[in-house]
Amino acid sequence: MRTKIVAGNWKMNNDLAQTETLITELKRQNNPSDVEVMIAPSFTNLWQAFNSLKDDSIEVIAQNMHFADSGAYTGEVSGEMLKSLGIKTVILGHSERRAYFNETDELLAKKVDAALKNDIRVIFCFGEELKDRKSEKHEDVVGNQIKNALFHLEAEAFKNIVLAYEPVWAIGTGETASPEQAQDMHSFIRKTLADKYGKDLAESVSILYGGSCKPSNAKEIFSKPDVDGGLIGGAALKAEDFFAIANSF
Ligand code: PEP
Repeated sequence: MRTKIVAGNWKMNNDLAQTETLITELKRQNNPSDVEVMIAPSFTNLWQAFNSLKDDSIEVIAQNMHFADSGAYTGEVSGEMLKSLGIKTVILGHSERRAYFNETDELLAKKVDAALKNDIRVIFCFGEELKDRKSEKHEDVVGNQIKNALFHLEAEAFKNIVLAYEPVWAIGTGETASPEQAQDMHSFIRKTLADKYGKDLAESVSILYGGSCKPSNAKEIFSKPDVDGGLIGGAALKAEDFFAIANSF
């Protein structure tokens, strides 16, 4: 049985006081026992969030990391640093990092290696742009993003990889992939994994959907057989909405 996951990507939102307030609200919500619930605050608030949730089942995760362990990379944060805080999961490859910070598949492959080396599980994001879907290239684009950044890994490494399909045209736009579009892509992703690593491995990897997921559409999306949860942006900033989504399986 695959792990069900609902992860909130807070992006560059919430200062320290707002982080504390939202965490207090999150602690009041009903946490489903069979779903791994995670939040990703900014680096500056990770330590505070981690300590506030130390005795809670909500996991605090990071939004990004550098591939080097240390060195002359002004402004960056390493996997070793995250590990020293007790962080066990990192989001890599988010489309905003790809678009605004020029993160390429090659760079992401290095970041994935660095995270795994530091025993940090990776939520690896990818997804096509609208032009790719319109020209029916969405499967090629997604297949290549996965192959280029992950297919150098040994099968064993996939115990620490979660995939997040996030069509760029659905992120922060209010437009969601239909449950059928999500299922079709998730099934394609699983087949891509199976072709390289075998069916058993493909069946064991959790694949999340991300892109304007909200309480009103989560149930239908999560009901699809190859959708194992969601990576949530905007709706993760409201405790009630986030937990409504986490309770949508
Ligand atoms: C995201 O940024 O990962 C995301 C899914 O955002 P939103 O839910 O706001 O579309």
